[in-house]
Formats: sequence, structure tokens, C-alpha cells
Amino acid sequence: MPTEESKTGNEGVGTARTVLSLGVPKETVAGERRVALVPELVPKLSKAGLEVYVQPGAGATAGFPDSAYVEQGARLEPDIFVHSDVVLKVQPPTPEEIAALKEGAVVIGFAQPYSNGPGIQALASRKATVFAMELMPRITRAQAMDALSAMSTVAGYKAVLVAAARLDKFFPLLMTAAGTVKPARVFIIGAGVAGLQAIGTARRLGAVVEAYDTRPAVKEQVESLGAKFVELALETKDAEAKTGYAKAQSEEFYQRQRQMMLQYVAAADVVIPTALVPGQRAPVLITEEMVRSMRPGSVIVDLAAEQGGNCELTVPGQEVERHGVVINGLLNLPSTVPFHASQMYSRTVTTFLLHLVKDGLVDLDLGDELTRGPLVTHQGEIVSEVVKAVIAKG
Ligand code: NAD
Repeated sequence: MPTEESKTGNEGVGTARTVLSLGVPKETVAGERRVALVPELVPKLSKAGLEVYVQPGAGATAGFPDSAYVEQGARLEPDIFVHSDVVLKVQPPTPEEIAALKEGAVVIGFAQPYSNGPGIQALASRKATVFAMELMPRITRAQAMDALSAMSTVAGYKAVLVAAARLDKFFPLLMTAAGTVKPARVFIIGAGVAGLQAIGTARRLGAVVEAYDTRPAVKEQVESLGAKFVELALETKDAEAKTGYAKAQSEEFYQRQRQMMLQYVAAADVVIPTALVPGQRAPVLITEEMVRSMRPGSVIVDLAAEQGGNCELTVPGQEVERHGVVINGLLNLPSTVPFHASQMYSRTVTTFLLHLVKDGLVDLDLGDELTRGPLVTHQGEIVSEVVKAVIAKG
């Protein structure tokens, strides 16, 4: 660990030249195979004046052995939390990790700002400066730091592969000596980052793809990927918030949407719902009746499972069979493609960290929306309005 006096460089802290130590722990949440930093990015951080420390085994489950980090100039450190001025994480720190964290450390990673009030409170008590990657503003300048979009890309891709592996049909049109095989029909609900990646992947596998989104602006993107945009006679002018995310609609709206989507769900071999509204339970768009209308052997991969699911029969974290239909509600799909998911995730967090570091120190410009947006705790306080609102609601 650095021999000179270490510090985070938060404003108000002294100005003496120090060496900032950056720690990359092994993720401890069950099933998490990603790592927050891949070896190829170590030289970039060293060049910015940081000393990089990696907990032994941190990258092992993602395909990055300790030796690869050491070759790139990182050092191995078992007691990673105790010594690190800056910690790069994937999952929010656990209570044990928070207890081991150096007071005043900077933590960058997913923080689950909409559901993890107690954890964030504990981090504030530890005087940690925490950045939640989920709250990165959706502005052009922040695109390379958009961890959520990066992980949605992975999830959208993998959802199609899971569906293809479970389906009792081929995806492509096949013309064989044994006759012609019709292509599978895939219906994607929600054409955001994950949905568009799912459309592209299903098309590459040769399926006939249809998609629907409440934001009419995505029609062109859907069509450019070779899928058909389903037009429902629903009033959706007000579907998009200033943030670029979808707005929640009324229950009456969802009821009409379900009625109008029934025929598309019934005709599909695979349905991949991805519809999310930030901070809220995912809207129920596929009812039991709609599942019953599907051919037995069909597959639903519910990418909204983490937020309760778009299908009312989804069991988050499990694959179940209902009315002969496979309903997959597996959580954390990005972790099932850990090599590339880690590579993409670490690019976003590294770009963000380098945005914060000036002359080898973390230098917070709280007037910058890129810094202020994801900041959830600072100097012992919860500073994020999002998190304050979640805690106030209880
Ligand atoms: P998301 O994961 O929050 O939601 C997934 C999709 O579900 C969205 O497209 C949403 O419109 C849709 N949806 C919500 N309710 C629905 C319903 N009832 N029926 C059908 N669809 C419904 O969204 P996301 O994928 O993260 O991104 C949404 C948009 O933001 C995309 O257009 C994306 O390109 C844009 N974006 C911009 C930036 C940036 O400018 N930096 C970064 C990331 C994403």
C-alpha cells in the first residue's frame, strides 16, 4: 500500500501530494462472477497517478487471473478494503465490506439507490463518498460511463440465447431435404438498450421478430434492425421523461396495452419483456391468461424479473413452467457473460473515475452534473435526492 500519506482528495482535505490507492475487491454476493476492473485498464489508472491493488482471485470467475493484473502493474492485496482510498465495485458493498472500509474512502459501483436505503445509510456513517453508477445522467457526455446500458446490452444478448436453448424449435428458416422449417417468432416488449440488443441477436439467429415500446421514437431503431414495430392504438405522446427513461402509465393504460398485445403474445414462440420504469415495480404486461394463450413449449425470458417481472407468473430468480410455457426469471444475466460484462463495466467505471481524478487526486466538482448526478453519500451525509426520497418513503 502507498507509503506516503494516502487520502481521497475530497475537497476540503489537505493539498499535499499523495499517492492514491485504488482497490479492486473480489465480489462476494452469491452468483456474482464479474469484476469491477479488468487487467488491460490497469496501465491507464497507473498513468493517472493511482496505485492499483487487486484482491487475490478478484478476476478469477470472469477469466482474469491474478497474474494478468500483476503483469499490467497492479499489486495483490488481501486486505483490500482496509487500505484503499478508492474502491471499484460491481455489487453494493455488503455490511462486512462497509465495516472494513477505510473511513472517507471513495466507492464507485452499483449501489441500488432505489432499494438499498440501509446500506447507503451505513456507507454515509462510514463517511464514504459513494457514486451509484445507476444514477449516471443520460447525457451524451456520460455515454462512455453508462454502466447500466453496458449491462443491458449483455442481458439483451444473453436473454435470446437462453430462450433459443430452451425453445423446442429452431430460430432460423431451414430448407432441408426433410422439408422446410418455419422460423421462430420472437416478440420483444420494450425496445430500450436491452430490447434492441435482443432484437439484433434474435434476428442474427434468423427469427422473425416483432417489438413494441411505449416510446414511439424507437420505431425507426426497431425497423433498422430488421424487426417489425407493432403499432398499438394507445396514446403514448407522454411516454418519455426528460431523463430518456419511460414514464409510468396508469393501470387503465396497462390494461388496454395487455388487451392489445394479447394476439402478439399468443402468436409468439418466444416473448422477451424488458419494460422498466426506474425506481418502480416493473409494469405487469403479460397476465396468466396471456400465458395460457401461448403454445405449450413456448418460452418467456423476463428481463424485468429484477423489478418484479413484466409477466405475472414470473418467479424472480427461477425458471418455472406454467401452462406448458417456460418462464425464465433469472436474475443478473450479465454475470453469466462475465468476461465481456466485466470488460464493458470496467470501461465505464474507469472512464468515470478518470473524470474525477485530477493530478492523482479525486477532485470533486459538485457543480458538474456528471459528478453530482451519481453522488449518493459525501462527508457523512446522504446527498442524493433519489435516495432521500426512497428512505423517506420507508
Ligand atoms: P429501461 O431499461 O428503463 O426500459 C426498457 C424499455 O422499456 C424502454 O425503452 C422503455 O421505454 C420501455 N417500456 C417501459 N414501459 C413500457 C411498456 N408499458 N410497454 C412497452 N415498453 C415499455 O430503458 P433503457 O433501455 O435503459 O433506455 C431507454 C432509452 O434511453 C433508450 O432509448 C436509450 O437509447 C436511451 N439512453 C440514452 C443514454 C444517453 O443519452 N446517455 C444512455 C442510455 C440510454
